Amino acid sequence: MTGEWDVLIAGGGNAALCAAIAARRAGRSVLVLEKAPKFYRGGNTRHTRNMRCAHDAATGTLTGPYTGEEFMQDLLRVTSGNTDEALARMMIDRSYDMLDWIQQQGVRFQPSLGGTLSLGRTNAFFLGGGRSMLNALYRTAEALGVETRYEHEITGVELDGPRFHAAQIRTPDGGTRIEARSLIAASGGFQADVDWLKQGWGKRAENFLIRGTPYNRGSLTRALIDSGVQQIGDATQCHAVAIDARAPKFDGGIIKRLDCVVFGIVVNKNATCFYDEGEDIWPKRYAIWGRLVADQPDQIAYILFDAPNLEKFMPSLYPPVQAARIPELAQELSLDPDQLGQTVEGFNAAVVGEIPFDHTELDGNRTEGLGIDKTNWAQRIETPPYYAYPVRPGITFTYLGTRVDDRARMVIANGKPADNMYAAGEIMAGNVLGQGYAAGIGMTIGAAFGRLAGEEAAAHVA
Ligand SMILES: Cc1cc2nc3c(=O)[nH]c(=O)nc-3n(C[C@H](O)[C@H](O)[C@H](O)COP(=O)(O)OP(=O)(O)OC[C@H]3O[C@@H](n4cnc5c(N)ncnc54)[C@H](O)[C@@H]3O)c2cc1C
Repeated sequence: MTGEWDVLIAGGGNAALCAAIAARRAGRSVLVLEKAPKFYRGGNTRHTRNMRCAHDAATGTLTGPYTGEEFMQDLLRVTSGNTDEALARMMIDRSYDMLDWIQQQGVRFQPSLGGTLSLGRTNAFFLGGGRSMLNALYRTAEALGVETRYEHEITGVELDGPRFHAAQIRTPDGGTRIEARSLIAASGGFQADVDWLKQGWGKRAENFLIRGTPYNRGSLTRALIDSGVQQIGDATQCHAVAIDARAPKFDGGIIKRLDCVVFGIVVNKNATCFYDEGEDIWPKRYAIWGRLVADQPDQIAYILFDAPNLEKFMPSLYPPVQAARIPELAQELSLDPDQLGQTVEGFNAAVVGEIPFDHTELDGNRTEGLGIDKTNWAQRIETPPYYAYPVRPGITFTYLGTRVDDRARMVIANGKPADNMYAAGEIMAGNVLGQGYAAGIGMTIGAAFGRLAGEEAAAHVA
């Protein structure tokens, strides 16, 4: 590891590998430093299933056109316009080419599974999931001559104004220092650092579960911001979904997510509903439920539904809590049986309309007259046995990170781009995602900005 590298990359996930391959293909020497041990390489990317890409016609695995304009409108809707529009458009334009480029790096795709996801047109699914996608990228990178070191965490950077010189590294044997002509930060968000989360969320963060890697603690993000790189976003903005409350604190992955909100109602620990479960189709709403539960007492909630709905969604790893009657279900969940009974009865009485239930579109089956109505997919909860899943906020990744420009260069305090420092993936996701989320954008951000950062770093060094 001696000598000066052309491109030094922090991280070992999608963004880092796309950057590494792009820079190496441009003829540069590339060193990837991954904080995790080899088995856990690739952070949150290990857990992924798909990636959102614009395309003008159906492909082998995507069912129809999804134009850049439609992608942009979806992004504007989910972020409520809180995005850097120029950067977002640039990313979406680059996503057209991404499907082909990623496949050229050895990644394979498959058609979307059926079920509640409704993503077959917009999102390309990795054959074998994120781990398989990642292994393909590593194989290609290694074959091209990219060097990788595991259990190497970049903890500090040495800058001279806008120019990066060297990084300080923590290793199992102590520490070291590496010089390079450019740096690409692709080291994820800071969601695994609960103390940092508490700066935004207060004590509530202690009840959050972290869906992915325990290694994304934001050490490099902190070092960069402390060294004069501009911060984007605040500590409360993140992607957070409702996950099974019985999931482990870290790395529970996708099989703890619960996609059954639309099939029933959601109550808090006071056994009352707190939000419209039928507001919009699930891919556009699944990512609000983490925040909603975070605002409830003790950061816990319960999704309730009845027997005919049990097999309509992908199950969690854990079985639901089950009872023959609603009061018994309440007891199992330590909820007030009278209050839960009243909530379910009130909901059932308020259901109007008997249009055939269809969760893939806004079906208009709603309640009327409740304090908080369910505006689609309202069906009476009346056929035993009754089921419930306890859920907590599951933090996927945070949005606070480093500001970048349209060449993936980090922006420094005076508003100018850094000479030779780039960022890609979760660490700069806040540039595109000021708030909200649409399924599959995390991987688009990583791949589009990762490849761009690799190309730009290579061109700079040349
Ligand atoms: C359960 C789950 C399911 C998901 N499903 C999807 C999906 O289907 N589609 C989608 O688009 N998104 C999905 N996401 C989000 C997606 O995983 C991320 O947006 C994406 O993987 C981020 O890629 P990245 O390369 O920026 O970060 P990561 O893949 O997390 O990689 C960051 C890497 O940096 C390393 N690292 C951290 N700090 C340092 C340091 N200081 N020095 C060196 N290395 C460091 C970490 O060990 C890690 O390997 C999912 C996330 C989770 C948790």
